[in-house]
Amino acid sequence: MTTTIQHADLVETVAAALQYISCYHPADYIAHLARAYQSEASPAAKDAIAQILTNSRMCAEGRRPICQDTGIVNVFLKIGMDLRFEGFDGSLQDAVDEGVRRGYLDPDNKLRASVLADPLFERRNTRDNTPAVVHMSVVPGARLDIIVAAKGGGSENKSKFKMMNPSDSLVDWVLETVPQMGAGWCPPGMLGIGVGGTAEKAMLLAKESLMEPIDMFDLLQRGPGNRLEELRIELYEKVNALGIGAQGLGGLTTVLDVKIATYPTHAASKPVAMIPNCAATRHAHVVLDGSGPVYLDPPSLDLWPDVHWAPDAERSRRVDLDRLTPAEVASWKPGETLLLNGRMLTGRDAAHKRIQDMLAKGEPLPVDFTNRVIYYVGPVDPVRDEVVGPAGPTTATRMDKFTEMMLAQTGLIAMIGKAERGPLAIDAIRRHRSAYL
Ligand code: SF4
Repeated sequence: MTTTIQHADLVETVAAALQYISCYHPADYIAHLARAYQSEASPAAKDAIAQILTNSRMCAEGRRPICQDTGIVNVFLKIGMDLRFEGFDGSLQDAVDEGVRRGYLDPDNKLRASVLADPLFERRNTRDNTPAVVHMSVVPGARLDIIVAAKGGGSENKSKFKMMNPSDSLVDWVLETVPQMGAGWCPPGMLGIGVGGTAEKAMLLAKESLMEPIDMFDLLQRGPGNRLEELRIELYEKVNALGIGAQGLGGLTTVLDVKIATYPTHAASKPVAMIPNCAATRHAHVVLDGSGPVYLDPPSLDLWPDVHWAPDAERSRRVDLDRLTPAEVASWKPGETLLLNGRMLTGRDAAHKRIQDMLAKGEPLPVDFTNRVIYYVGPVDPVRDEVVGPAGPTTATRMDKFTEMMLAQTGLIAMIGKAERGPLAIDAIRRHRSAYL
């Protein structure tokens, strides 16, 4: 029997799924993170997991994004061979993009548009997060199977690929590679590993594997049923034994699950790809069968564990950002918890590049950086009565090459960001007795 898919239904379904995944973590992620919280021994990592869980619940309650980076949209379409499409002026890609546009520009929960056209030169924001990256396959049947995901740049940037020798060990490569990825991919999350096919097939397998539900806890309980499951458990245990931990703060859980997908390959080849998924794991699976758009039901708040993070005022040092001095910054100790209050400046790569250009031309800077702290952040636009939209730190290594300039020439005294710094920035921070939080 032929089923008809209406253009309006596909657009609406994609838009609704994007809104849904922007603010609701998948239930399997919450359940696995709650278990990781229970078993975590490192106080810093336990605190970080508590913050992720508390943020996750707040986002579900307030229907706002779980992360400021609301991602680039990845869509997987499995198109039944018996389907008809009606009302389409353009392609399926166009219809998906219309759904992305509608989803990201929803005035009640506007999402951040992060996609840039002309990536080599102008890097111009398309303003509506289009286009999506769409993968399609045509399969038997009369339904349209849709997976919608929003992948953050921090985790996507840590994707790895290697054309291994057939005799090389996948486990060795993963254990060498994960520590080099640092914490910019915001663990705890998952690793998707693709092995086989060709170079691009291995990458696609790795990405698709991340769309599977997290089920490591069940797998550990029932035990492996085949060699692939044995390998998943081995990698899960060995990666977690590396001690990277939540947000790179050390601890027992770096990954909640490891997925492995394989495909036949050439006798001379062993292409392997690894893509991490971060603490903002966002994907949804829906099916169109011709009966109209699909909407997912919001999850029950009972899914979230009884974890409510709050700052520990007793054990923290209070910092007044409006009276901060270089001497006070120099007195901060690694491992201390600071409670910041007052005004801080914000900026990321583009702002730093602009500052560099202005300084080179001898132009005055638009703001006074003297004794100020900069927060590497790009918030989501505010909606309703918000003063600022959801905000969180971005990967600080992107600002490493500007650090010496900022500390030497602008009066800046400290920085706030996500993940480790590289040698250039560390050297500048040490010489200027600055700090990176
Ligand atoms: S990598 Fe980090 S900052 Fe980027 S989307 Fe994921 S949680 Fe957010």
